[in-house]
Amino acid sequence: MPDTKYIFVTGGVSSSLGKGIIAASLAKLLQSSGFSVTIQKLDPYINIDPGTLNPYEHGECFVTNDGAETDLDLGHYERFLNIPTSQANNVTTGRIYQTVISKERRGDYLGKTVQVIPHITDEIKRRIQILGETGEYDIVITELGGTVGDIESLPYVEAVRQLQWQLGDQNVIVIHLTLIPYLAAAKELKTKPTQHSVKELMQSGVNPDVLVCRTEHHINDKIREKLALFCNVKKEAIIESIDAKTIYDVPNLMLEEGLDKVVLKKLNLSASKRPTLDAWNAFLKKYKNPKASVEIGLIGKYVELQDAYKSIIEALGHAGALNEVKVNIHAIHSEDLAKNNVSKELSGLNGILIAPGFGDRGIEGKIEAVRFARENKIPFFGICLGMQMAVIEYARNILNLEGANSTEMNPETTYPVIDLMEDQKNITEKGGTMRLGAWDCKLDKDSIVYPVYGTELISERHRHRFEYNNTYFQELSDAGMKATGVNPKTGLVEIIELPSHPWFVGVQYHPEYKSTVLNPHPLFVDFIKACLDNK
Ligand code: GLN
Repeated sequence: MPDTKYIFVTGGVSSSLGKGIIAASLAKLLQSSGFSVTIQKLDPYINIDPGTLNPYEHGECFVTNDGAETDLDLGHYERFLNIPTSQANNVTTGRIYQTVISKERRGDYLGKTVQVIPHITDEIKRRIQILGETGEYDIVITELGGTVGDIESLPYVEAVRQLQWQLGDQNVIVIHLTLIPYLAAAKELKTKPTQHSVKELMQSGVNPDVLVCRTEHHINDKIREKLALFCNVKKEAIIESIDAKTIYDVPNLMLEEGLDKVVLKKLNLSASKRPTLDAWNAFLKKYKNPKASVEIGLIGKYVELQDAYKSIIEALGHAGALNEVKVNIHAIHSEDLAKNNVSKELSGLNGILIAPGFGDRGIEGKIEAVRFARENKIPFFGICLGMQMAVIEYARNILNLEGANSTEMNPETTYPVIDLMEDQKNITEKGGTMRLGAWDCKLDKDSIVYPVYGTELISERHRHRFEYNNTYFQELSDAGMKATGVNPKTGLVEIIELPSHPWFVGVQYHPEYKSTVLNPHPLFVDFIKACLDNK
């Protein structure tokens, strides 16, 4: 009998029902009951990873400590569970096929015809069990991306069927998340789409053990009975998931519905204690009862899409809760900003955050926004590209290096204050070739950031190609822009500050990836505090 239990979360009827949040909430409850849990996401698309996907297509790309470019749901997993994920927590169809095809080229299949079944499904099953086999986890939750019935989901559903058969019903269970739509004209909740979706799953040989029903209205006893009878699920395993004010309410909602209890019973596990969400609820209380508010400008080029800056938005929320303030985020398109309108567009903001990004679209607007924040002493937080923009702005307007730029935006610039790293110069492939994952950074004791972190050596996650060009180090420092965080091995500048300004910090890394509910990121917390003080 295997030691690790596997829970699969599938989706039906519609996409965007929040499988990731349900998986993370269940994991939270199981973790608070004393189990060690991790969550994995299987994505049925053919890209090797979402690193090459446009944020408009797929939202933010989340980066793990080991440098994997992953689905944004992994961000939710980390924020909920407060433990890091890794490459093993996100697998795509592209990666599965890549492994199988490399094996075929090596001759590992000994002349056999390589097929979806069994070769692709075997590789899927192997990937699912990698985390379980580390021996670190009592329970592995695997979220299947996409919707049951999609052609590309079929091999995954088949792999789940096989695993359940091989490992036994008590070791593998399936939770199906569906939508119960409300027909306003009939004033009725409708179960038929769910019945069809379960039927689809059953046609592939998988019986859901639990149904989680997304709904805008409470589902009554009659509907629960109907769903149970027609979907072949026990009545106690019909779990309502009503729309919540915040995603951070969902663990409590699932606890009230008894999702953890049903799951433990099916897996034949007994918890040493009932889930205690004390620390979680202490956060939630502050999150929901702010004593003041701050207005933050989030300046980027994907602002119309809230998923594009998911981790930044969540990190601002965590920091707000800790400061007991409501953070009102004003998403501002950098392309809409120019010298003549910047003061109007950014007036009334208590803080300005310039987001990460790639390419030259909207760059000049970002530089204007930096200048506005610097000159008007408004707290400024530049993340990755945002930090690079701060360096360019300072070089242009204080050092008078006209046309200073990043070679990403202008390869011919006379003053390449941001430039390509030496080891990036010969790279021609786009996927997975950036500086990725966790890198050390040593802080200057005489800085804003040192007391904020409370330690001299920090480690933060990266995702970029271009760097602060150390040729300009002396000139920039002499003119007042200090490099207060440097990679101790490579000497690359990680943090810049303006000591003459109340709070002006640019970081080459992505602190947002490390902010969790129980551990809001100190830089975000201090930024929000500075914004509050600035009010
Ligand atoms: N485009 C910049 C670079 O590659 C910044 C990347 C980012 O903001 N993540 O260096």
